Amino acid sequence: MSNAELNSSYVKGGKRFKGTLPSILPEIAAMSIEHNLKNTRHFDSSLRCVAIALDGSRLVEYGENKLKTHPFLKETYHDLKRMSIHAEADLVIKLLRRELTDGVTDVVVLRGTRRLLSSHPCSICYSLLRVYLRSVRLWWYDAETKGWRVKIIQ
Ligand SMILES: [Zn+2]
Repeated sequence: MSNAELNSSYVKGGKRFKGTLPSILPEIAAMSIEHNLKNTRHFDSSLRCVAIALDGSRLVEYGENKLKTHPFLKETYHDLKRMSIHAEADLVIKLLRRELTDGVTDVVVLRGTRRLLSSHPCSICYSLLRVYLRSVRLWWYDAETKGWRVKIIQ
């Protein structure tokens, strides 16, 4: 097994950063871009997303977009139809499963493999975040202004 395979997951829960947001955004961006580059998940590079939940300087959990065969579709279409799960939805599912939603202070959404692309959540994911993560700061990259943006989810 090569080093690349051994370290195939660059974003990991439990990681503690040496600072808090926004100063750790460059580190989070580098880590996420590496993650998206190495983990294709059968998506075009521009479509690979990660959503990261933090509690201050600790990475609580992360989600990534992925293709998932729905049991119903699998039975009906013999594995030909697949649905994709957005990174934010994957994150919320993991947080709920581990009962970690209360400790989350920030969610950062990142897209792309070589440079950051705009990453504001779609309306469905934003609604999902609003239901489960109130009063949490949401950070996303804006490629138009080449900068980070933030707002409180409420
Ligand atoms: Zn979405």
